Amino acid sequence: MKNARLSAPSPNTGYVPGCPFCDIDPVRTTVVGSFSFTKAVLSNPCLAPGHLLLIPRRHVERLSDLHPVEREELVTLLIRYQEVILHRLTPGCDVRQNYHPFEPAGDIKVDHLHVHLIPRSLDDELYQRVASVEDSLFQMVTPQERHRFLALYQLGGPEDS
Ligand SMILES: [Zn+2]
Repeated sequence: MKNARLSAPSPNTGYVPGCPFCDIDPVRTTVVGSFSFTKAVLSNPCLAPGHLLLIPRRHVERLSDLHPVEREELVTLLIRYQEVILHRLTPGCDVRQNYHPFEPAGDIKVDHLHVHLIPRSLDDELYQRVASVEDSLFQMVTPQERHRFLALYQLGGPEDS
């Protein structure tokens, strides 16, 4: 059953009325790149100057909903834009893709799949305000967790990817 998502496209595809990434507001959002399957836009609001979003043109919610050609373009653009950021903007760059179906969509949270590229540097506000808190949350992996996740994360083959 877990492989059904790969053999058939998700029914949750196409245009979704009211979705801010299906209907990008040109006043609020600057499109910096428009490609066959993907748009690159400046995140607004942003977590850091130059915060970029890569958004598939089709409304999908999970990476596994993407067709192979969409995946390939998304990853290629992710690498290219990250290199632009690292060579011309900041020494670091976060790549994030959040899938949180447990949160209702709102002004900040959008269900339409998108990947964040967040330019980072040692003295940025995100580092100063978040990293110190986040660092305190790291815990050592217990033997029980090691056993559990070693078993859980065994991939049986490409169809599990
Ligand atoms: Zn959408």
